Amino acid sequence: MEHPENDTQYAGLTVNSGVEQPPIVNPYLAKRPRRKPLPPASELVEGILKGDVTSLSRAVTLVESLAPEHYALAQEVIEKCLPYSGNSRRIGITGVPGAGKSTSIDVFGLHVLKKGGKLAVLAIDPSSERTKGSILGDKTRMEKLSVHPNAFIRPSPSAGSLGGVARKTRETIVLCEAAGYNDIFVETVGVGQSETAVHSMVDFFLLIQIAGAGDELQGIKRGIMEMADGIVINKADGENVGAAQLAQAQFRSALHLFPPTASGWAPEVLTYSGYYEIGIAEVWDMIDRYFEYVIRTGYFEAKRKEQARWWMYETIDEQLRKNFYDNEVVCKILTRCENDVLANRRSSFAAAAEVLDYYFGEK
Ligand code: GDP
Repeated sequence: MEHPENDTQYAGLTVNSGVEQPPIVNPYLAKRPRRKPLPPASELVEGILKGDVTSLSRAVTLVESLAPEHYALAQEVIEKCLPYSGNSRRIGITGVPGAGKSTSIDVFGLHVLKKGGKLAVLAIDPSSERTKGSILGDKTRMEKLSVHPNAFIRPSPSAGSLGGVARKTRETIVLCEAAGYNDIFVETVGVGQSETAVHSMVDFFLLIQIAGAGDELQGIKRGIMEMADGIVINKADGENVGAAQLAQAQFRSALHLFPPTASGWAPEVLTYSGYYEIGIAEVWDMIDRYFEYVIRTGYFEAKRKEQARWWMYETIDEQLRKNFYDNEVVCKILTRCENDVLANRRSSFAAAAEVLDYYFGEK
């Protein structure tokens, strides 16, 4: 008997035979087509030039992809978009976490969009490498912009070295410009690593500061201040106005000690409140004045050329490095040589020479 409980001695207890267990995986899922195949470059480019956001997003995803099979297609799309790029104002925005970058970008963004045109907000976030998630450029942080039809917000590419992440952002700028975005914000955390990369891809570099207790200039990397074309002190509202004005005076006098900038433009220091929307137009007037000035003096063009050159060498450096460290034998020799050096058995130079001799001998 299949079920002993069905024996007459257990009167009143009936056990029905079971039903077949449905499959755990939905069978319809297997039949569903996998991801759409990638369209040819020409189709993506056509969409981008028409300003189609889906094509733009797909192309950006392609550029950010680490899959080797996406690389050639991504490069083809970028090459085809290049002739249509360059016609935007690229503005870098930096500040420590909590300085009010997202609040400010939201209102700055709406301010520039009031005049028409389209705005792209991109981000470079070196910390995303560790957290595996980007904290910058997150749509939820920019409530008003994220629902604006003429704004395109893209979080930081999340994988790879800072150089790699920055290069992808630079390539994304090209795509956005080809799609007709004439204002590009590149956001970064003001902690000192990614600023150089951002500086090398923007026309204007805005440093957001907040007035704090004590010496305002403490903890601010001199290098970041030297890169800034404008310093703005946020949260100049309520009881904070006095402190913000004091910070403004301190920054102004500190800037006097710096050598003149390459552009000849004297960086300005302003106060504003992103949250209460005070002084936004003044900040933007300053940026407009800067663009008028550098376009008139020819510095705008010269800087863009210099940046293009910088990126060429930067890309070469990165590829050479990658090729070297990706070589398995090189890695083995490196480990052995490093141990020798640490154990004082060999000099650093002799060890380096051995690895390099092997590498160049291979080539
Ligand atoms: P982020 O980390 O630099 O992006 O900074 P957020 O934009 O997230 O702002 C950090 C905090 O500062 C939030 O609680 C904001 O509400 C607040 N905040 C931003 N701008 C202002 C401002 O202009 N005035 C005041 N009082 N608070 C602000």
